[in-house]
Amino acid sequence: MAIESINPHTGRTLRRFPAFGWPKTEKILNQAHKAAPSWAATTFFHRAGVLRRAAALLRERQDELARLMALEMGKPVADGRAEALKCATCCDFYAERAESFLADELIETDAARSFISYQPLGVVLAVMPWNFPFWQVVRFAAPALMAGNVGLLKHASNVPQCALALEKIFHDAGLPPACFRTLLIETDLVEKLIADDRLAAITLTGSEGAGAAVAAAAGHHIKKTVLELGGSDPFIVLADADLALAAKTAAQSRMINAGQSCIAAKRFIVEKAVVKEFITHLKTHLLAFRPGDPLDEATQYGPLARPDLADELTEQVKDSVAEGAKVELHGGQAKPGTALFRPMILSNVKPGQRAYTEEFFGPVALVLEAKNADDAVRLANDSRFGLGAAVWTADAKKGEAMARQIESGAVFVNGLVKSMPELPFGGVKKSGYGRELSYLGIREFVNQKSIWVG
Ligand code: NDP
Repeated sequence: MAIESINPHTGRTLRRFPAFGWPKTEKILNQAHKAAPSWAATTFFHRAGVLRRAAALLRERQDELARLMALEMGKPVADGRAEALKCATCCDFYAERAESFLADELIETDAARSFISYQPLGVVLAVMPWNFPFWQVVRFAAPALMAGNVGLLKHASNVPQCALALEKIFHDAGLPPACFRTLLIETDLVEKLIADDRLAAITLTGSEGAGAAVAAAAGHHIKKTVLELGGSDPFIVLADADLALAAKTAAQSRMINAGQSCIAAKRFIVEKAVVKEFITHLKTHLLAFRPGDPLDEATQYGPLARPDLADELTEQVKDSVAEGAKVELHGGQAKPGTALFRPMILSNVKPGQRAYTEEFFGPVALVLEAKNADDAVRLANDSRFGLGAAVWTADAKKGEAMARQIESGAVFVNGLVKSMPELPFGGVKKSGYGRELSYLGIREFVNQKSIWVG
């Protein structure tokens, strides 16, 4: 795929970038590798200063960054500004806490003194997706840089301007340029980078296919990886739940980023007694979302990031309907090859349908009927994915008990599933492994070294 900015709202090509070849990529890798020891030798205080300045720049440049996201991947500007601000919060969070998260941990053994020391690994490659073009990168970069690592970014091919804007923010904040570089490369160079001894580790957020390819190469070269992959998050609604609030939150969750979020609620598992009423509420809320030009302040959802993503979603819907799913809300694409996709609801989602097994990466709500709470948990777990999940019930204790039974990296009871710096983020099953954010995230790319002194 060429590295180019194409406005999904207008279809117009905005900029084309020649992809870096191996000589240029190798030179940047070498610079990063050379810069790593001196960055690792800086104090937490120094690194925190850089991260705090980056946070200030993210706030200062929020309009410009939101405009880039709107132009390159169709995110409404209001949401883009919120994303920039969330990135700033994450930089501040790690600037403040990294030192305590990575402080020596004394452990009693037969030694006079023994402890775990957390030390940086060196150059970490981040392979990132387009859906949250700043947040996905910052939630890797802020802890990695604070831990004393240096970063190389291979961003998705459709968001090169976002990738360059973030690189500039870190450089303007005072980070030595070699410590964070954007590589405008195609995927074929990723394996070559992984094979190189100067690269220490890799983190990838994206599809299962990309994750498997990168993990296979990393495994071959014995390198640590963190994988944040897709999800088909269940959103369980029991009969005793506050139905109006649950349905409102369900619509909000399904419509995050025009439905293109790994932790958007995708499978709505509703107790039989309330399924009809839930669908009625959900329909009302979904229809209230305003589509439009992402540059327009009033727009609540824009086009999908690329027309081929909308075409693929249409195919998934078509096949599922042919397999027995029922259309409760008609929406979708106006015609093939266009990126706008209006929200849809499919009910009667059953095993054997694509809707039952696959991730729908766009605004299609899939409704499954559950006999009772146990059946709802069974349906929730009957998935190859395990990223986030939500449970809605008036009985918070019961919700908590169900949360423990659900196979996922996070469960929110009576709330919207979201990521935040304080809580770890990641998945189980085909949603990947490893954790980002919190103190667990910053400990992924460090040598957890045992030191024993007799
Ligand atoms: P991809 O997984 O194809 O892209 C994510 C990143 O991985 C991009 O930087 C991409 O580069 C890179 N990549 C892709 N294939 C390889 C490979 N073989 N080796 C190395 N790097 C690779 O996502 P898509 O754009 O295709 O999005 C489609 C699907 O991805 C969605 O349906 C969803 O399931 C999943 N997804 C999940 C996200 C999440 O947050 N968990 C976010 C976005 C997508 P390039 O752009 O150059 O191909």
